[in-house]
Amino acid sequence: MNADPESLSRKDPTLKKSLLPDNAWDTTPVSILENLCQRCIGRAYYGIIQIEGNATRGRAITFAYDIITGFERQAWEECQLCHGLLDDVYRYCDKIAQDLKDTEFSTFLVGSIMERSLIELEEHVFETLSVTGESIKKDFNRELGKLLSERLGKEVSFDDPDVMITVDLRYDQINYRLRPVYIYGTYMKLERGIPQTRWIHRDHSGKSVEELIGEPAMEAFSGTNFYLHGSGREDVDVRMLGNGREFVIEIESPRSRNAELKALESRINVSSMVEVHDLKFCDHVTIEKIKSAKNLKTYRSRISSRDPINEAKLYDSLRLLTGKIIYQRTPLRVASRRSDLIRQRTVKHSSLMSVNGREAVIEMTAESGTYIKELISGDSGRTEPSLSELYGSPLTVLELDVIGIQRGDE
Ligand SMILES: [Zn+2]
Repeated sequence: MNADPESLSRKDPTLKKSLLPDNAWDTTPVSILENLCQRCIGRAYYGIIQIEGNATRGRAITFAYDIITGFERQAWEECQLCHGLLDDVYRYCDKIAQDLKDTEFSTFLVGSIMERSLIELEEHVFETLSVTGESIKKDFNRELGKLLSERLGKEVSFDDPDVMITVDLRYDQINYRLRPVYIYGTYMKLERGIPQTRWIHRDHSGKSVEELIGEPAMEAFSGTNFYLHGSGREDVDVRMLGNGREFVIEIESPRSRNAELKALESRINVSSMVEVHDLKFCDHVTIEKIKSAKNLKTYRSRISSRDPINEAKLYDSLRLLTGKIIYQRTPLRVASRRSDLIRQRTVKHSSLMSVNGREAVIEMTAESGTYIKELISGDSGRTEPSLSELYGSPLTVLELDVIGIQRGDE
């Protein structure tokens, strides 16, 4: 396919001397353009020759090159670099449109994976021509993106798109990553014996808060899985009452994005075990926000003693505990899964609600992360001071509820 070498002007020593710096022909073997398609030629001179569009730029350069050198280009010759790879965008566009026909989304982004050898060959070509060019990958992604945008009426977005489409040209495969749907809300746990997440109690036969919220949510958004992110957690045997605990439910690979949240709320609340409120769409940043929130929590506890409760003494003990710094070693009951540390927390308020024989009901407001059961029992001296210690006799927690979480925005 090469023209007669003698006909090329680069063989003219006079021209070499007068127009070009020394050894220019040696470092710029432009004859490589004879093996490339117009589009690849256009890409090579991207940013150098100010003509919009790789194909148009390539056409102009090819035209000029062929006239100057007398090279006879055959229209049917295959490009030695891309081998017509860019023509595949139409086929991929059809396939993607078909694959996503039942998926709700408004933004997308195209990426691609290509043979290493192709990338290396391209680098070699650009280096030979002393250009930086535009990579075939970028060209392919943009062209397919443009085509899809026109076909589907959706927008290309580089910032957290609803659908990330990756075309693997090595294996002729297309992978889709659907951005999860995140829903913020608050939940109340109305019954004891419900773990917050699926993972803590594998042997637990009943449903977790995560499943009670996540299953209807996953169905509403046609997802494949779900994760509950809570702003802290309560123990299995502790109810979560009052204004509820903040959470984000994450729905993986949602085919739908526009489910009615009021309807979802009603569906979840059919269960008498949990109740959710204030559902609204949010993003993943909200997860970090609610997880790191340091909110005061108010607890109500029914406690008991071996002997009839001495009301005045219990009242005084609660008063003494309030405002004190409490040192808590990791409780024995969780020591197997958490490292042994000493926490410092403060009790902000406490009150004695009622006394009935050997039982009493107390309320305490403490900093987030306080081990309340241990604050009452003392956990064999691992929490100091404790209510039992101040009262001078062991106190046992019969029931515990979170009755309020003081949030920054309330
Ligand atoms: Zn090409």
